Parts: sequence; structure tokens; C-alpha cells
Amino acid sequence: MEDKLIETNSPEETFELGRQIGQEAAAGTVFTLIGDLGTGKTVFTQGLAQGLGITEPVNSPTFTILQVYEEGRCPFYHFDVYRIGDISEMDEIGYEDCFYGDGVCLIEWADLIEEILPEHFTEITISKDLKKGFDYRKIQIKERYLG
Ligand code: ADP
Ligand code: MG
Repeated sequence: MEDKLIETNSPEETFELGRQIGQEAAAGTVFTLIGDLGTGKTVFTQGLAQGLGITEPVNSPTFTILQVYEEGRCPFYHFDVYRIGDISEMDEIGYEDCFYGDGVCLIEWADLIEEILPEHFTEITISKDLKKGFDYRKIQIKERYLG
């Protein structure tokens, strides 16, 4: 995907952006989502899930770290690592089968597990700017290549 900067002014717009990205996402893609609490990571994720063809409700799997959805055109692995204590919890979940599998991965709070991110991923950063209004969000999309 091309690097880009999108500005939204409502949750519906952020959802729609996620939906479009989900529609085009290739199996094997890893998305990381960075942004403070309440910026819209889950709203974006819900849109992306719909774009993949998932109709069941998607919420933040806060206490489980990983939620798997098999309903769409490929598996969807939704991580929310906000409450992760130790990186070994990711091994216990079997994250490698997800990161390097044939589904789409999305990781909320990916900055907390930086050391195990794959060599290539699409980084999405959401931020507020209260000067531009309570519902304004700046969404940056950037292809990242580590190593
Ligand atoms: P996070 O997962 O980043 O903690 P959520 O997606 O759960 O955040 O919540 C975002 C909140 O911000 C929701 O209550 C949503 O209605 C609100 N909101 C207001 N404007 C926007 C916007 N432009 N994009 C996304 N969410 C927005
Ligand atoms: Mg969330």
C-alpha cells in the first residue's frame, strides 16, 4: 500500500477507511495500530473486519490478547496487546502461526511488542488534534521494513 495521511472527522469515516483497506488487504498482511486510548483503533479494526467479510461483532479482546475470526474471505487475527505482561505470552498464544500464516493480522498497541514484529508490516498511526475538533483524527499509513 502507498504511504498516506488521511484525516477523518467522525467514527463513521474512520470505519469506512478501515473497510476499504480490509477489502483490499492481501492474505499474509500484518497491520499494526498505534495510538492513545480512545483514538479509534477499535473503530478502524471493526471497519477492516467488515471489509474482510466478517459480519459478527468485533470488539477489543482486552483480556484474551487474541481473537480469531474465520468468517471472512481469509482468517482475521485481531490482537490487542494493551494488557500484555511479558512477551512470552505471545509465544504461548502461538503468534507466529498468525504473523506468518495465510490470514490478515491486526495488532492494537503494537509498539508494546516491537521486538517480535515481522520484517515487513503496514503501520497505522492514529492521533487526535484537539485544535481541529473533538472528533478529528489524523491517520498515517506507512509501510515499514525492519532489519
Ligand atoms: P481505541 O481502540 O483506540 O482505544 P476506540 O475505537 O475504542 O479507541 O474508541 C474511539 C472513540 O472515539 C469512540 O468512542 C468513537 O466514537 C470516538 N471517535 C470520535 N471521532 C472519531 C473518529 N474520527 N474516528 C474514530 N473514532 C472517533
Ligand atoms: Mg481498542
